[in-house]
Amino acid sequence: MKDTATTVMERCDLLANISEEPNALTRPYGSQAMREANKIVSGWMREAGMAVKQDEIGNLIGCYEGTGEKTLILGSHLDTVRNAGKYDGILGVMVALACVQQLHYRGERLPFSVEVVAFADEEGLRFGTTFLGSTVYAGAFDSERLNLEDKNGVTLREAVRAFGGDPDALENGGRGNGGLLGYCEVHIEQGPVLEELDLPVGVVTAINGQSRVRVGFVGKAGHAGTVPMEGRRDAVCAAAEFVLEVESTAKADPEAVATVGEISALPGAVNVVPGEAELSLDLRHPEDAVRERLRNHLEQRGGEIAVSRGCKHRWQVRQETSAVPVDPELSALLGKAVEDSGLPVHRLASGAGHDAAQMAALTNVAMLFVRCKEGISHNPAESIKGEDVRAAIEVIGRFLSLVAEGERSGRRSEVSREVSP
Ligand SMILES: [Zn+2]
Repeated sequence: MKDTATTVMERCDLLANISEEPNALTRPYGSQAMREANKIVSGWMREAGMAVKQDEIGNLIGCYEGTGEKTLILGSHLDTVRNAGKYDGILGVMVALACVQQLHYRGERLPFSVEVVAFADEEGLRFGTTFLGSTVYAGAFDSERLNLEDKNGVTLREAVRAFGGDPDALENGGRGNGGLLGYCEVHIEQGPVLEELDLPVGVVTAINGQSRVRVGFVGKAGHAGTVPMEGRRDAVCAAAEFVLEVESTAKADPEAVATVGEISALPGAVNVVPGEAELSLDLRHPEDAVRERLRNHLEQRGGEIAVSRGCKHRWQVRQETSAVPVDPELSALLGKAVEDSGLPVHRLASGAGHDAAQMAALTNVAMLFVRCKEGISHNPAESIKGEDVRAAIEVIGRFLSLVAEGERSGRRSEVSREVSP
């Protein structure tokens, strides 16, 4: 029998060729490529002994029946960004499938069903809105999104219909949380931490919350040759000071990350002292209270910097999302599974969003990160090692056994409660 990690690597290679573009991996929601990927993956699900269905948005759901009533969900997404790597999302589905395949080979049934979900849209490439698949599945879909249009003017409503679903069924198309034991997602780290620590896998502690702010400094424009340095109200100089303040604030907290990714100067000419500067701030942290404190600190410092340079300060919070903590019990079992696999347990927060964040609205979640080369993702250079995939399969296999052990002992205690007076 072929090693399961080798099979996972081969399957990721194969799916990387299922694309809307000839020489790049681009698999948006509702595309012909997505249709084909779902068809191939549903074949693999059946091979692993699963009953397969597709829901209204196009999420592919395989169910490996257990002996009990409850269900544990494993999964990730099959859609990609433009010119993507082979593993973002896809790896999580393939590892989950490999673990079920092993159960099937052994003829083993767990005391709960295992559902493998391949989400149809996480990246939001086509409609500019992320997590469509997991939002529907978690029962949190908002029908207003149906009017969103792709670049060809096709609405989400039309795309859902073309993909075989009923758009009006999406809002109530969630799975429902009855009998769920939780959701566990395997995903490439998309960062350099595990590689630096020379570890194949890591246990996720939380998915970072995020604040996005537009920051402005308004000074006074003037002639670059005639206005003396003394007394200038240069908005870009204020912005520059603020950017360094952002950096030092984030560096002072080991878990914070903050980025100024956009900056513009007005009027924007080589020979004009900038009268206005506008910049973006992206601030992330696993704890909401800390993120809010850092955000308030930066707002205050921005104001002080503006005053000290004779500028006005604008501060507009555009978007805030809360951090999603993982379930302590599931996460502890995942950590134990890592340890039982003979690996050191390293815990880290996720800086990027994942389907698990949406699934947290439905059930308890846990996540396992797999090392990826140089932390590169959303890029064809995305790369992982077969041996790390092997480690991930072993960890998830052990995780399933540990959850099963808990269920068996839990049920025993329920039974004994019934018989005791
Ligand atoms: Zn992903």
